[in-house]
Amino acid sequence: MNLLLLTPDDFISSDRVQIRGRRLLHLNKVIKAKPGDSLRAGLLDGKLGTADVITISQQAAELRLALTDLPPPPLALNLILALPRPKMLRRILQATTSLGIKQIHLMGSWRVEKSYWQSPFLAADKIHEQLILGLEQAIDTQLPEVYLHPYFKPFVEDKLDAIAGDSTRLVAHPVATQALPSKPLDDLTLVIGPEGGFIPYEIEKFAELGFSAVSLGPRILTVEVAVSSLLSRLTVNLETSHSDTHH
Ligand code: SAM
Repeated sequence: MNLLLLTPDDFISSDRVQIRGRRLLHLNKVIKAKPGDSLRAGLLDGKLGTADVITISQQAAELRLALTDLPPPPLALNLILALPRPKMLRRILQATTSLGIKQIHLMGSWRVEKSYWQSPFLAADKIHEQLILGLEQAIDTQLPEVYLHPYFKPFVEDKLDAIAGDSTRLVAHPVATQALPSKPLDDLTLVIGPEGGFIPYEIEKFAELGFSAVSLGPRILTVEVAVSSLLSRLTVNLETSHSDTHH
């Protein structure tokens, strides 16, 4: 927890919050916060700044806030991810949130086990927990949106084109012959496959919508490693392009 992430419920006056539960435990056990300490804090979907500890005990902490800074800019990237197994999903949601992705679409595909859609980890509050952990990790306040699309065909035929809009359209596929683009990208929609990979029909459906299949090389990576590897390479490009437009 690199950030004390707050919600309106925490406020006891306009510039004071009272913290209990998981975040208090972290302040006491990990940070060992004392009165007078200044911590990084942010309001969910709001500004970043500092929180000065006024009082702290095992029951509650009170802190005074000065939230003046904007959160980091979001990544111009839509992530379309074949639903991973539930245990992996939690880590992937945290990691992709910490990378600054604000639109995450979880999709069914031929090799996504149907039973994964019944997982309790897909409940809105469970997804929310992972997103919060990702924001706390990255020192960001802007909550990503996560959408569930259990059926491949209606998602790809009826929704994906509008989601991708004018962005560059890529599907990560180990056996693709095309390498990753090396030029900076302004805006990207990236599709990542399931543990068993995409079937040829699915790659064809993406191609019909203008998605180029790209490979990271001959090594087959786990979904988690593929996501972080692809995003780190494409993020550099996206950030370069964004900072270019600012200068
Ligand atoms: N047996 C599957 C196959 O051959 O496609 C492996 C799938 S891999 C575990 C899961 C997803 O991660 C893939 O569908 C792809 O989106 C991505 N991925 C893994 N390794 C990759 C690579 N070398 N290049 C591009 N994408 C990769």
